Amino acid sequence: MGLHLTPEQTNAIRQKWIEQGRPKCNHSCIGKEYMYGAHSDYVCLSCGTMHTERSAFKTMK
Ligand SMILES: [Zn+2]
Repeated sequence: MGLHLTPEQTNAIRQKWIEQGRPKCNHSCIGKEYMYGAHSDYVCLSCGTMHTERSAFKTMK
């Protein structure tokens, strides 16, 4: 998966997830957020949760 997101896109994903009532998410689809062309964080494409380490998503339930 090499999807790159802007902070605006990350916010939109998170906002949509909140509007849907924060459904349970297993964070199976992870993208990368880029700010000013530099990689900043990993982002769940379903709920907008962010982590600095990709492996952190696997330990979340
Ligand atoms: Zn998620």
